[in-house]
Amino acid sequence: MPSPFAFDNSYARELPGFYVNAAPSGGPAPDLVVFNEPLARSLGLDPHALQGEHAAALFAGVDVPEGAAPLAQAYAGHQFGGFSPQLGDGRALLLGEVLDPEGRRFDIQLKGSGRTPFARGGDGKAALGPMLREYIISEAMHALGIPTTRSLAVALTGETIYRETPLPGAVLTRVASSHIRIGTFQFFAARSDTEKLRQLADYSINRHFPELKDDANPYLALLVRVRDLQASLIARWMGVGFIHGVMNTDNAAISGETIDYGPCAFMNAYDPQTVFSSIDSQGRYAFGNQPALAGWNLARFAEALLPLIDANPDKAVALATTAVEGFATQFELRWNETLRAKLGLREFDAKIAADFFTLMQQNRADYTLAFRALADAAEGLNQSLLALLNASPEATEWLARWRPLLAADAANAMFRVNPKYIPRNHRVEEALSAATAGDLAPLKTLLLVSQRPFDEQPGFAAFAEPPEDTSTPYRTFCGT
Ligand code: AMP
Ligand code: MG
Repeated sequence: MPSPFAFDNSYARELPGFYVNAAPSGGPAPDLVVFNEPLARSLGLDPHALQGEHAAALFAGVDVPEGAAPLAQAYAGHQFGGFSPQLGDGRALLLGEVLDPEGRRFDIQLKGSGRTPFARGGDGKAALGPMLREYIISEAMHALGIPTTRSLAVALTGETIYRETPLPGAVLTRVASSHIRIGTFQFFAARSDTEKLRQLADYSINRHFPELKDDANPYLALLVRVRDLQASLIARWMGVGFIHGVMNTDNAAISGETIDYGPCAFMNAYDPQTVFSSIDSQGRYAFGNQPALAGWNLARFAEALLPLIDANPDKAVALATTAVEGFATQFELRWNETLRAKLGLREFDAKIAADFFTLMQQNRADYTLAFRALADAAEGLNQSLLALLNASPEATEWLARWRPLLAADAANAMFRVNPKYIPRNHRVEEALSAATAGDLAPLKTLLLVSQRPFDEQPGFAAFAEPPEDTSTPYRTFCGT
């Protein structure tokens, strides 16, 4: 059978020494659970060649398609502040790269496909639930217009894997504009291998930012570009109440895509201290900490790049410091623009924005519902917003101050930036438990609703609602 992928493997070809070759371990009974036909089409793949038994074997890591060069990428990373000089793909394999019809390059990666030389104590496997979680949330993020890796398929391997309980083993096929992380640079920086560092930087510039090649200082320009992409990304996350949960430097892609969905979740009631991840006991990656943490990660990227930025260490530090310090300004620019659009304003108004956040927090208003209701209020329908804000006199007073600041045709624009549907945590859990028990119906419905987050979808209004019982704090667990 010819390969459904026309692989062109630049990472394997151009970066020997940056990975180890490894084969997927497969499983006894491959079974395709979800397949993303629209994504396959947009990549220029033939969806018919990716269905049936053959596809299940491929997506479960049983068959390696022709032209693939499966490899585990080396990377390091700061995890919760502490540095691990060697992480790498312990349970993921880059199968290869494909070019879409516009000539854009994408990685095709298997996650959960078995142990690699980077696996350390891990089994190299993944359970169905966490792989479906990544599928649901990454596709929802894409529909929300947020840069992200995509999900092409999830397949069961037929193996039982052991976590707290026995669980069905599964493999996620992930698509990314690359899997180069801040941690990839840190891997070579930590080994003082400046030659490899330069090779990686050149490869990254070539692949992602070819226009920087002619810059007077391409490596400083790379730092600045990654800074701006991260600032923009975090502002977009915050705009939809997304909490990544594990913003370690090995989970920060230099492409500016959201990557490595583990214990991520969307906030319900607005509270900047919101944390869902069971392993984030300090609240390091709480909703409101995300900009500061992205800035911290960027500083680690800058440190790794120092020897490339200037041969004179003092000069390198001075240049890098100025670039990193610009993160706060960049984030603020992007965040203010996000808020201007979400609030429907002609121009950004810091006081009106801050007061709205105070109102949401004081009234424990649902973040998504409150902004959506604000779009209704722009059309003159204040009731739903007032109900969310407990009909407080401050809310009425705020509406009176806000209305004159509205842009022309604000409501329509607001309905396109304030989603009605996000993958609500309780819906995600419901879909994952049902799928783990063999019932895919809730998953399929959730995926369908999440594809059109800004549209009213009659019959699915319940999917817009937060959980009724919010007394038990929601907890997410790392996708291992
Ligand atoms: P993550 O928390 O998923 O970003 O993973 C952090 C590191 O642990 C990466 O190097 C992963 O490849 C590795 N890892 C996570 N789970 C497993 C597993 N089950 N087996 C082997 N390596 C793993
Ligand atoms: Mg990771």
